[in-house]
Order: sequence, then structure tokens, then C-alpha cells
Amino acid sequence: MTPEMDHEEGLYYRQTLFDKAKRVVIKVGSAILTHESGLNDEVVDNLAREIAFLHNSGREVILVSSGAVAAGKRKIRLSDTVELSIKQKQALAAIGQSQLMHDYDEAFGHYDKNIAQILLTHSDLAHRKRYLNVRNTILTLFKFGVIPVINENDTVSTKELKFSDNDNLGALVANLIEADMFICLTDVDALYESNPLTDPDAKPIYTVREVTADIEAMAGNSKSALGTGGMQSKISAAKMVSMGGGSSFIGPGRRMDILKHLFSGEMVGTFFLPHKEKMQSRKRWIAYVLKPKGALVLDEGACAAICGRGKSLLPSGIVEVRGDFKEGDSVRCLDGQDHSLAVGLSNFSSGTVSKIKGLRTSQIEKIAGFRDIEEVIHRDNMVVL
Ligand code: GLU
Repeated sequence: MTPEMDHEEGLYYRQTLFDKAKRVVIKVGSAILTHESGLNDEVVDNLAREIAFLHNSGREVILVSSGAVAAGKRKIRLSDTVELSIKQKQALAAIGQSQLMHDYDEAFGHYDKNIAQILLTHSDLAHRKRYLNVRNTILTLFKFGVIPVINENDTVSTKELKFSDNDNLGALVANLIEADMFICLTDVDALYESNPLTDPDAKPIYTVREVTADIEAMAGNSKSALGTGGMQSKISAAKMVSMGGGSSFIGPGRRMDILKHLFSGEMVGTFFLPHKEKMQSRKRWIAYVLKPKGALVLDEGACAAICGRGKSLLPSGIVEVRGDFKEGDSVRCLDGQDHSLAVGLSNFSSGTVSKIKGLRTSQIEKIAGFRDIEEVIHRDNMVVL
């Protein structure tokens, strides 16, 4: 079975899944939203009109919008050629975010829609309780009939606190609220089989059944001029959403009535189907939200037990401990060739795991002096990749 799908079958899936999509996350990037003199009012207004149309059709919609830094830059007339430091970006986001919300508020107001601002850092989602709080707030906004507009809280985000980009943020939000569909509007038409700049016969891929290594390798063919994400990060976002049971779309954000056309089943852009087996919510949080703080290298027996037999990770199967992590932190499990096999929450700190690695349960108390230690990562807290 190829990862792409033929036209007829793809059309059928699109129509069915767009019809059924009740909860939709739309992500729009800076490249679409801004032009030389700041936020592009026409684009903002079109977006508001299209989202209002979806909302009026009984759908719950979230907008994940970039554009704060770009809007801030234009507002104080900083040239595009100036290389920005983190501090400057943080300050520009503070200037631009209010402008962004002001413009959205006005535009959505024309269509009788209320919006709400939510600014998130990565640590808001990495903290399980705060993660669930964000979800509750969004669901309450839906009940009020309000459209949440989400961006990263760039002003307080430092490197460790950051999402990799807004594609990543959009996919995490889609999984957080179990969205049926993640729509990524950008300045490229679609994912292409080969590079359309060098190959005049390059074919767009309309429907992706599954994000395989071949599909990931095609990302370089569809370069976007602007924006932090690029096609690679859009494809990993689509993969994440598909594991959460949703479908995704990547396509041209500047095309007039793009959402209307999409929801009437038009074959435009690239559509990604949901994965057959949906990963549980907590496991998605472990696999996609948490950033691993270290790694454990496993022997062959432990690799086979984890990947093939659904077992927990015991101290005896660990040959090496890397990084400095605390109890409860997320760690990667690697095989002898450094391939990532799984990720999970460690029951112990790196210091403790170093002392008990390679030991059988019966030896642990005698040799390392610890009691009641069985698994280092319990199966319930582990995701095999
Ligand atoms: N949060 C950034 C902004 O509003 C954009 C990040 C991104 O596009 O990935 O300017």
C-alpha cells in the first residue's frame, strides 16, 4: 500500500471527513497575514469571514495565529533586514500581539463573532494540570459561542520554554481538544512529489494515507519563503494530529474562499488522513508535548520486550544512562545503534537509574541498597514510537 492515495478514493475521504468535522483548528502563518506595511487587513477580514461561515455551520473553531512579531516590527518600522535578538523578538511580540488582536476583534465583529485571546508557553502544556486547565477554558469558550485565538506567549518564552513553531503549537492544541481537523494555511499550494522549481512535471500529492519516511523526505520540495515552520514542521504537525485521530490539511492560505472550497470537498492542497489507531490522550501528551530530558540505552532483550511484547522497562535491560533527569521526567529509550524506540516517564532520577542499571530485581536491594524498585518506566507511561 502506498502512502499516497488515488484521486477518487482521496476525494471520497475528503468529502466524508470534512462533512463530519465538528471541531476544527485553523493555523495561519505570518507569511500569509502580513505585507510590507503590517498586518494585511484584507487577509484578516477574509479569514474572519471564512471562519464565521464555519462557525455558523455549527462547528467549533479555533484560530492559531502567528503574526505578532511581524506586526510589531512593522508598527515601529524596523527594517526586515535587521537580524533580531531574542529580547527584540519578545518586545516586538508584545507590541504586535495587541495589534493582531485588535484587528481580529474588528474583523470578527463585522460577522457578529466574539473572540478570545489565549497565549501559551510550552511549559503551560508540559504541566499536566495546566494542560487540562487550558482544555477546560477552551471548551468553556466553545460553550459561550466564542472563537479562541491562540498564539505562543513569545514575550515570556525563552529557548527551553518555546514550542518549535506555531505548526507545532497548532497540532498540540488540536490534540488537546481532540479536534477532528487541523487546517494549516500557508504560502505553498501543496506537498509535491518532486521539486516544482526544477521539475516541470512535479505532481502535488492530494491525499496522504500515512506519514511515512518517503512522505517526510518530500518536505524539501515545497519550500515556503517566510515563516519559522517550513514544510517539514507542517508534516510532523500533521503526523501528530493523525495519531490523535484527526485529519489535517496543508494548503494555500491566500486563495479566496479556501475554507469554503475545502469544506465542499474540492481537491486543493494536501490532505492527511487520521491514523487507524488513535493514541490515548495521556500517551499523546507524553509522546508529543513533553521534551525528553535524557535517554536510556537498552540491551537487545529489553528492546524486544518493549517493542514486541508490550512490557515495562526494568533496570536489568538498561546498559547506559544519558543526561540529567529527575523522577517523573520524560526520557527516550534507545537501542544499541541510537535509534529512538520509545519515550516514557522515568520512575527514578538519572542518578538512581545509574546505580541500578543492569541489575536484576533480586540484586537491587543487596547491591544498590534500594527497596521496592521494579520497573524504571511503567508501560502505562510509555509510548513505543
Ligand atoms: N509566535 C510568533 C508570532 O506571532 C510566530 C511563530 C511561528 O510562526 O511559528 O510572531
